[in-house]
Amino acid sequence: MSTTLPTVPAGDPDSLLDAERRTRDIHRCASSTVDVLVVGGGITGVGIALDAATRGLSVALVEAHDLAYGTSRWSSKLVHGGLRYLASGQVGIAWESAVERTRIMNTIAPHLARPMAQLVPMFDDSQGLPVAAGLGMGDLLRRGAGGHLPAPSRLSAAEARELVPGLAANVTGGRLGWDGQLVDDARLVVAVARTAAAYGARILTHTRAVSLTGDGALLADEMTGETWTLSAHHVVNATGAWAAGLDDRVSLIRSRGTHLVVKSASIGEPSCALMVALPGSTSRFVFALPQADGISYIGLTDVETTEPLDDPRASEEEIQFLLDGINPALAQPLDRAQILTTYSGYRPLLASATGSSADLSRRHAVLDGDVISVVGGKLTTYRRMAEDAVDLISERPCRTRDLPLVGAVGPRSGKVPDRLSRRFGAEAAVVAAMARGDESLLEPIGSSPVLGVELLWARHAEAAITDEDVLARRLRVDLVPEWYADVAAGAAAVCG
Ligand SMILES: Cc1cc2nc3c(=O)[nH]c(=O)nc-3n(C[C@H](O)[C@H](O)[C@H](O)COP(=O)(O)OP(=O)(O)OC[C@H]3O[C@@H](n4cnc5c(N)ncnc54)[C@H](O)[C@@H]3O)c2cc1C
Repeated sequence: MSTTLPTVPAGDPDSLLDAERRTRDIHRCASSTVDVLVVGGGITGVGIALDAATRGLSVALVEAHDLAYGTSRWSSKLVHGGLRYLASGQVGIAWESAVERTRIMNTIAPHLARPMAQLVPMFDDSQGLPVAAGLGMGDLLRRGAGGHLPAPSRLSAAEARELVPGLAANVTGGRLGWDGQLVDDARLVVAVARTAAAYGARILTHTRAVSLTGDGALLADEMTGETWTLSAHHVVNATGAWAAGLDDRVSLIRSRGTHLVVKSASIGEPSCALMVALPGSTSRFVFALPQADGISYIGLTDVETTEPLDDPRASEEEIQFLLDGINPALAQPLDRAQILTTYSGYRPLLASATGSSADLSRRHAVLDGDVISVVGGKLTTYRRMAEDAVDLISERPCRTRDLPLVGAVGPRSGKVPDRLSRRFGAEAAVVAAMARGDESLLEPIGSSPVLGVELLWARHAEAAITDEDVLARRLRVDLVPEWYADVAAGAAAVCG
């Protein structure tokens, strides 16, 4: 079998996921046996579905809620080069991250990932050397793994202020590094799922696995309440923080990571990320990450927790920690009233006998057995995790290393709104065509940056079944309450 596959073209009918296809696919799966059943529609599960489908296996993926319902939408949205792992001596993970970052940014999803400059402000000369050493090691990885990110550099105070005008007066200069930034983590999940669908995978959202065996699962359709059985030759549990509930060999520790969402104007409109070293450390940072559309995320905490799995929430202590961490670098300190909202997600970390969650390995584990469970890892390394898991099932070679996702390849039209090009890549023109001449659908809805056609596309192509799928997971307007209210109010007019 050849190792290259035809690329999925923009708007490929086989990649379109809507409610009718979901119903059809449920009926087809109920009357047949698939090669692989994947449980979980986060980045890990969709990555496995894509890997298996491209090796020629028949695949069904079930997700209890919606694509990217869990941790995969609560990340920092970075495609890491692995620098942070070097600091803790985890060279293997660092290398893996650097390689996968290059693949995502160059070939797999260049339409969803961009280079992002990261400024580490200096307050005195003592910080310069260790930070430069860290960036230098990251640069070795960058050069080894290839790619087009610039090398790190040293900046004067004036140069640093040009990038981050809101810097505190006592900043004496800065070091500039580079990493990858996703336009949105949930968009990556959806793009992988649609690409898997184009290669034949059946993507069944709102379908819960009630219990698993080595040859299938008892499933519940969360839209109708009906239960049914799916037969499979192989079953893969990719349910992240929920994994222990379906496989009692899995023992997880959960660590909550929280971000604040603020208007970029309230931190001086930075044009690059601001990485502020925690007191006494040159390798642990609180960071502000500017996004498109005038908002920034400030992260990140790491708090071990045993609280219930659904609906993780920031604690007061985490909010204060993040404010205390970022404010020393800002001329105008940020206060609580400027926080638009917060978001939190759980890192599913493999339990180990020693140490706190911050010390546990971030590497993924693939547990073989009647049911294969895949846990841990990073968004950045999803493809490698999938390759490792499917290697246990198939002897055919992996074909995803250089496989572009839908939207990555194709002609770009200059005549579509910037927001569509930024979020849909080569599919922007297909999305814009959903307006069918109604120019109002290419305008932002209310105070939000969302265009009407995005609501239509979410239901037509992106497996959005419920209103909340559209608002929270495709459009991400839950990150700014005012946007959410406006888009929810405008949705009826758009969708009829
Ligand atoms: C705060 C934070 C920031 C992070 N930032 C980054 C970053 O910037 N870059 C990076 O590379 N990594 C980052 N990570 C790590 C990365 O986000 C996670 O490793 C990754 O998203 C985990 O994906 P997953 O698919 O394994 O789990 P999830 O995304 O949680 O997916 C599991 C899915 O399984 C479903 N499910 C559960 N039970 C069932 C069932 N019974 N039946 C069917 N479906 C079920 C859930 O609904 C869920 O959708 C971050 C993690 C956190 C917590």
